[in-house]
Amino acid sequence: MTDWNLTGNIDLVDAHCHLQDGFLRHGLEPALIRARAAGVRMMCCNGTHQGDWDYVLGLGRRHPDICISLGLHPWYVGERGPRWLERLEELVADHPVGIGEIGLDNALAERNDSEQEEVFLAQMELAARHDRPVTIHCRKAFGRLADLVGGMAKRPPFMMLHAYAGSHEMVPVFEKLGFHISICASITRTANRKARQACARVSGGRLLVESDSPAIAPVGVDFERNEPAYLPMVVEVLAELRGERAEDVAALTAANAREFFRCCGGGRTGS
Ligand SMILES: [Zn+2]
Repeated sequence: MTDWNLTGNIDLVDAHCHLQDGFLRHGLEPALIRARAAGVRMMCCNGTHQGDWDYVLGLGRRHPDICISLGLHPWYVGERGPRWLERLEELVADHPVGIGEIGLDNALAERNDSEQEEVFLAQMELAARHDRPVTIHCRKAFGRLADLVGGMAKRPPFMMLHAYAGSHEMVPVFEKLGFHISICASITRTANRKARQACARVSGGRLLVESDSPAIAPVGVDFERNEPAYLPMVVEVLAELRGERAEDVAALTAANAREFFRCCGGGRTGS
């Protein structure tokens, strides 16, 4: 199903996906079989709102190769209930999960920046209190994000900018703040010069790869039908853009992701 042409012992970790959404909700089992056959040894699944946290936790319980993060995504900030943060903190205290997907999105038609920032910072502080890794979504708010995180007295132990869509100039700024940077299939579109330039600047020790499935499919695949099994296509293009071997990019990003999610059981699968 991909043009993956590596042979031997492939080792891949999908650092960010939503296995509870879209066609994956009812088609997960065959998609997991395809992912494992493609060499994906761990998938990091993110809840996005209170309504999916329990379901996502259940996925992690049933599958040892699915590692879980829970959070309130900026798109769902307006729908949060009065006790959302207490509920999230209870779940985080009781389960080995990361915090995500959280973030800032200034590309929404209806802007609610101050509400988003309040919700974002509350979850960042929760992650810092419980020593958990954080997965962050950011659109058109990169400067603001750097300012907010830079101003935190105590930061979470690991922070990831997922599906990185910032400029290549901002890559070293975020790395200095302690971020990992996760690359998705947007780099498979040759017209996306910004993403293709940025991915080449990420330091090896901070590089991650993700499917963000079921969204952001690689070029040639129906956009909403993405799944972890397509991750090799991201790795191949990334390796080409960085002038590295695909096997090395796969191994490096897998090791980085296991370290990032170690406290969430991320180190228990694969090599
Ligand atoms: Zn996502």
